[in-house]
Amino acid sequence: MKIYFKNNKPFIEGVCLDDIINSYSTPFYIYSQKGITETYNKLIENLNSEIFFSVKANSNQAILKLLKSCGAGADVVSAGELERALAAGFNSEKIIFEGVGKSKNDIQYAINNNIRLINIESINELILVNSIGYSLSKKINIGIRLNPDIDGKTLDKISTGKKTDKFGINIIQLNEIITLIKSCENINLKGISCHIGSQIHDLSTFKDVFQKMKKIANSLSGEGLNIEYVDLGGGFGVNYEKDSDDLDLKELGVLVHSTYNDTPYKISFEPGRFLVARSGILMTKILTTKENGGINFLITDAGMHTLIRPSMYGAIHRVQAINNLNTKTIIYTIAGPICESSDILVKNINLPKQEINNYLAILDVGAYGAVMAS
Ligand code: PLP
Repeated sequence: MKIYFKNNKPFIEGVCLDDIINSYSTPFYIYSQKGITETYNKLIENLNSEIFFSVKANSNQAILKLLKSCGAGADVVSAGELERALAAGFNSEKIIFEGVGKSKNDIQYAINNNIRLINIESINELILVNSIGYSLSKKINIGIRLNPDIDGKTLDKISTGKKTDKFGINIIQLNEIITLIKSCENINLKGISCHIGSQIHDLSTFKDVFQKMKKIANSLSGEGLNIEYVDLGGGFGVNYEKDSDDLDLKELGVLVHSTYNDTPYKISFEPGRFLVARSGILMTKILTTKENGGINFLITDAGMHTLIRPSMYGAIHRVQAINNLNTKTIIYTIAGPICESSDILVKNINLPKQEINNYLAILDVGAYGAVMAS
């Protein structure tokens, strides 16, 4: 989603930004229906697989409804997310439930709503799901979320697929869990899944994941287990420093087809960030300007309470000025109003000279933005 100027007025997709600013008080998020729809279609075109939107990236009801209408399923990690997906109209057969720490209530809620799969992440969880199935006289459809021990070469805070990460079931425990599953009368194993982390840009990492998962699926099928679904996770990288160079979907598509075209499995993915990151802008107003210790601060009404990614992960977001465009640029640090020194949105950014009550647009915030606000 881009901001462009016509007669010195800022526009997004034909809508004058001034009209939105005059109608709503800042800070607020703006999303692009067109951007999300086009990205979803691009994913389908290239991957030709089922897409489950990872609701944790953005659980805004309008966005969930939009993705549902495009044909996506939903990937949830809590009863709250499941409730939001159901409220947005997702068919329960198009919902999968992952999550490293599901409570008994979460699991019961998922079972009562007949979702497609509960992807279990530990042996204890398997035992719990089986016992709930027993008490309800039901066979529960599950997948196993595997931890393939592959380094996504991403930030430690968003890595999930190394054997020392807390997620999934370690491959060395696979035989043990399969033996247990075979003895569980109220469990029906239908698939395997994995997700090795977020912001993965390296295709060779996906290649390793696809091949390892194929080997496991084939080996389980060889044992007589009915592996219908292979879910290859999300994690598709977005380049926050420019408008281009996100993960190459065409190459990813070639990789997935060349790996799985000789298999019977239904392949799915569960991207979050890639679907929505580029289609969100955060508008904020400058509350004050000041110079402290040689640093030029712009203090804005958005901060870590509105967008926590910079202070939590050191994430970088580009910022676009929409006022005073023709003034000389200055190096600024943009900070929020919260009483935490870590409440910094961007450091050392070059912007035209700004004043109180000017507006700034923080770009590419459609994923893990509003959903993590407090
Ligand atoms: N699936 C699972 C299990 C996840 O934990 C996550 C995010 O952490 C995702 C999918 C979505 O990841 P991304 O937003 O990087 O695509």
